Amino acid sequence: MAKTALAAVFMGAGTPFDIRELPLPEVEDDAILIRMTTANICGSDLHTWRGEYTSAAARGVTSGFVTGHEGAGRIAVLGRNVKTDSFGQTLREGDRVVFTYFFPCRRCSVCLDDMPNACPTRFTRFGPRGAHIAPYFTGTYAEYYYLRPGHYVFKVPDSLSDDVIAPANCALSQVIWGVQQGGLRFGDTVVLQGAGGLGLNAAAVAKEMGAGLVIQIDRIPGRLALAKRFGADVVIDATEIEKPEDRIARVRELTGGVGARVVMDLVGSPRVIPEGLQMVRPGGTYVEIGCIHPSRFEVDASTFIWGSRKMVGLSHYHPWALPRALEFLERSGDRYPFGELLSHKFPLREINQAFETAEWMGKSTSVTRAALTMT
Ligand SMILES: [Zn+2]
Ligand SMILES: [Zn+2]
Repeated sequence: MAKTALAAVFMGAGTPFDIRELPLPEVEDDAILIRMTTANICGSDLHTWRGEYTSAAARGVTSGFVTGHEGAGRIAVLGRNVKTDSFGQTLREGDRVVFTYFFPCRRCSVCLDDMPNACPTRFTRFGPRGAHIAPYFTGTYAEYYYLRPGHYVFKVPDSLSDDVIAPANCALSQVIWGVQQGGLRFGDTVVLQGAGGLGLNAAAVAKEMGAGLVIQIDRIPGRLALAKRFGADVVIDATEIEKPEDRIARVRELTGGVGARVVMDLVGSPRVIPEGLQMVRPGGTYVEIGCIHPSRFEVDASTFIWGSRKMVGLSHYHPWALPRALEFLERSGDRYPFGELLSHKFPLREINQAFETAEWMGKSTSVTRAALTMT
């Protein structure tokens, strides 16, 4: 096996990624070294790239590390003590796997409270510190990714293609958790703000979980067309219905005048939150997933009281969502165009071009999900 491998080192917002060779780490007995096959550019990565937010800041670093989190790979080196995945299935070198990109400690009151996705040290213990510090390969924008001892990892069924599983460990698991935490009940109405990677996955998941009516809002025609194929019953083109109050009126009209049980921000902009909150029916829930960066919005506080509405913020997902994502893709994935989610592919060395192409803020884009392919 080679002694080094390629990685794209994040050098800070506005500075190109630096493609360089990093030493391959020694694999601890309880660790796994993954050979990445696909790594996607998620909305969170765009927040980092723009300089709006990086989880690495919690460790005092803002550049000089390997980033990226959504993707999948193959086991290159299995630590000698690792025999199975987190589900008890036998693991062998060469197996295709997906993994969580956060690392709950399972030894704190938050983890004990069954919220491992919010464990206060899920990044600070294991996240990227610097490309010069072992195990170097701490993000998916590289040829390898190091799974520390105890990391959640799940074997991928042979029937699922690399393209289909690449969004499983972020977008798909995130919305499985999100729709569930939104309290969706059979026959309920759901509004999805945004039809990017998260939004399209959410349409399929909401339908599979029994939503009666899924309404999806975006401003990009290609995404809205795809949204219908992912299960959206009604799409609202925000460039056609330009005013927020008119979009709110349209949602009310579609929902018997009361609004939707679950409304989700899958855009990642605080601008959509006041509008989305007014689309929530009394007793319903607004699920905030997109805005990972510090940002503000202004709403009438009585919205929550008089309508008994809830707003739920979610970071990541409970790890059970990831094997369920795989099971769902295997069972029902072919009913939806999951294979078309990765609309643009680039080799790792072209990561800078990939980010330029994936950026949607301030311009129109035809990208649904851009991916780096390593094979
Ligand atoms: Zn993500
Ligand atoms: Zn914990």
